[in-house]
Amino acid sequence: MNSVRPLLSIKNLEIDYPSRDGHGRVTAVKGLNLALGQGEIGCLLGSSGCGKSTVLRAICGFEPIKTGEIVLRDKVVSSLSFHLPPNQRRVGMVFQDFALFPHLNALENIAFGLQHFPSQLRTNLAMEWLKRVSLADKANAYPHELSGGQQQRVALARAMAPEPDLILLDEPFSSLDIELRERLAGEMREILKANKITALLVTHDQYEAFAIADKIGVMTEGKVVQWDTPYELYHKPANRYVADFIGRGVFIKGVVQTNNKVKIELGELELDKDYSKDVGKEIDVLLRADDIQHDDHSPMQAEVVRKVFRGADFLYTLRLASGVEVLAFVPSHHDHAAGEMIGIQLVADHVVTFGP
Ligand code: ADP
Ligand code: MG
Repeated sequence: MNSVRPLLSIKNLEIDYPSRDGHGRVTAVKGLNLALGQGEIGCLLGSSGCGKSTVLRAICGFEPIKTGEIVLRDKVVSSLSFHLPPNQRRVGMVFQDFALFPHLNALENIAFGLQHFPSQLRTNLAMEWLKRVSLADKANAYPHELSGGQQQRVALARAMAPEPDLILLDEPFSSLDIELRERLAGEMREILKANKITALLVTHDQYEAFAIADKIGVMTEGKVVQWDTPYELYHKPANRYVADFIGRGVFIKGVVQTNNKVKIELGELELDKDYSKDVGKEIDVLLRADDIQHDDHSPMQAEVVRKVFRGADFLYTLRLASGVEVLAFVPSHHDHAAGEMIGIQLVADHVVTFGP
C-alpha cells in the first residue's frame, strides 16, 4: 500500500500548441505521469524540445492543459474543466537566467516576494533567507556585482522566501560555467534539503540530474518514459531509449548460454534476468564505459579509434577484433594514440540486456 500521498501528481497530462502555420495544433506533452513526495527533489531530464518547460509552466498555471490533471496537495489545480490561477497555487519558479531585478540589491530582490508582510518583518525575513543561502554579506550587492552562482542562490532564496509548497526550476544551471554546474547542483540540493523544500527541476544534463535529484523522469517526445531513482535508471533502464540516454555505453550482440550467462566477444557475463527459455538466442547487451578496463598486461587487445580527454580520465572508443566499437574510461595517465593496440579486460559482473 502506498501510504505517503504525493505532494504533486500529474496524471495523463496532454498539452498542445497552435501549429506554426496557423492550421491545427501540435502536441508538446502527451500521456505524462509522475508523482513527487513531500520533500523530494524530482528532475525531468530530456533533450531540447521534448516538452520539459511546457510541463513546468503548466504546473505553475501559465499553460492551459488539454487533458489529464495536475494535483497539488490533494487538490486538482489543472484539469479539462478547471484552472486555478497561478497566484493561488503556492508554487515558486526559478528561471534559467534567474530573472533577478537589476535595480534591486540582493536583499530587496528577496523581499520583493514578501510584500504582504509589514516592512520591518519583510527585511528580517529576507535577511534570514540570505543567511540560509550563505550570502548574508552580500545583502547590499546588486545582481551585476554577484557571480553567476551567487545570483542563482539569490534567485533560489527569492523563490523559497514566500514558502511555497513546491519550487520549480527550469534549467537552473545552464547559464553557468560547465565546471561549476555539478558543484552548484550539489549545493542547491543541500539548501533544498536543509529547508525541506519539495522541488522539480528540468535539465538536459544527466550529470546535473544525478547530482541533485532523488527521482529522475527521462522524457522524450512529451512523455516520461521512466520515473525512478538515479541508481535504478542507470542499472535497470526500462527500455532501450533510457539505456542509451543514461551513461555512456553501446549495445553489442551476445548469445545466451545454458548457465544463465551471455557470451559476448570479450567473454561471458552473468545475466540479471532468467533467460533459460532463450538459450542459444541472440540478445543485445549494454556495455558501459566502466564495464571495460584498460590493462597493459591483458592478452585481449583492442585498437584505439579515438579518445576524449575528461580530466581524470579519457573516454576511449575502442575497436574489437570483429570491428565492433565499445567505450572505456581510462585513467588519463594512459595516453595511447589512435591506431595503437591496447590491452583490455571485461569487469562487468551483470549487465543490462534487451531481447531477444
Ligand atoms: P523543452 O523545454 O524540453 O526544450 P518545450 O516545452 O519548450 O521543450 O517545447 C516542447 C515543444 O513545444 C517544442 O516542439 C516547442 O517547439 C513547442 N512549443 C513550446 N512553446 C510553444 C509555443 N508557445 N507555441 C508553439 N509551440 C511551442
Ligand atoms: Mg526548456
